[in-house]
Amino acid sequence: MSKAFASQADLADKKITFEQLSAHCWAYTAEGDPNSGVVIGDKAILVADATATPAMARDLIARIRTVSDKPIKYVLLTHYHAVRVLGASAYFDEGATEVIASQGTYELIVERGKEDMQSEMERFPRLFRNAESVPGLTWPTMVIGGGNPAKGEAPGKLTLDLGGVTVQVWHPGPGHTRGDTIAWVEAEKVLFSGDLVEYEAGVYTGDAQLEEWPATLEALRALGAEALVPGRGEAMKGNANVNKALDYTRRWVETLYRCAREAAQADMDLKAAMAHVRKSMDPVFGHVFIYEHCLPFDVSRAFDEAKGIKNPRIWTAERDKEMWASLQA
Ligand SMILES: [Zn+2]
Repeated sequence: MSKAFASQADLADKKITFEQLSAHCWAYTAEGDPNSGVVIGDKAILVADATATPAMARDLIARIRTVSDKPIKYVLLTHYHAVRVLGASAYFDEGATEVIASQGTYELIVERGKEDMQSEMERFPRLFRNAESVPGLTWPTMVIGGGNPAKGEAPGKLTLDLGGVTVQVWHPGPGHTRGDTIAWVEAEKVLFSGDLVEYEAGVYTGDAQLEEWPATLEALRALGAEALVPGRGEAMKGNANVNKALDYTRRWVETLYRCAREAAQADMDLKAAMAHVRKSMDPVFGHVFIYEHCLPFDVSRAFDEAKGIKNPRIWTAERDKEMWASLQA
């Protein structure tokens, strides 16, 4: 097998869909590439996930401009991953004044944002082919914590009035990272989940909190959403389809983590753990977009967590290559 990452060989453009889900909510999806969500009010617009580069963000902005000329005031970072956040600067020319993230995401950008940017640029050459348009890391201007605003601490939940539509933003619990944040338009029952939920695409868990992730998915299920923009995969319409995506993600996370725990208990090495995980994952998920790309990172993290490593080890471009060579050689 080739030593290049599976995703480095993937250079074919995806078909982008910009689709209205409710009176004020839109999905920008791309056949398994990272999605964005858009909430368009009478006064302002929120974009959930900025895309990988400013050049790429300009495509999303052009689509928004076909339906609204209002300022794109808020950019929500659902988590710190480079493919989600590095396009943010493009919105500053469109009226953006606030970049929103959770306290956990802010801390992860401080701790590993630079390494993540380098590593993701090498993992996804197609998404970062305009990397020269990225001015640097994206820093939040508005941080959501779990604190008391009266004491000057960051509040646990933000409620944003966009004019005729209100968006709630909060951290529902750890999962894809320890800082995942969602946007929820309660009146229209539309959920923007970031990578906490995927559908028929690889579920990247290389920086995840696998043990806690299922409980976070159940917290999202309890919202009773009628539409969902997942991190990757098509927008889901109708509560039954929303639940299908939640079930899909939960099955991936639980199967992966169960196999990794078995491998750890049996004292396997990483390569044997990979083979053990494949026996359960390949038949169910082997066909989906970026499966082969995600799996080695997923197994590495799941195996670490099964052995008691709570804080995911930082991926660097170098560690990426070493892991890939040892697992896919
Ligand atoms: Zn992610």
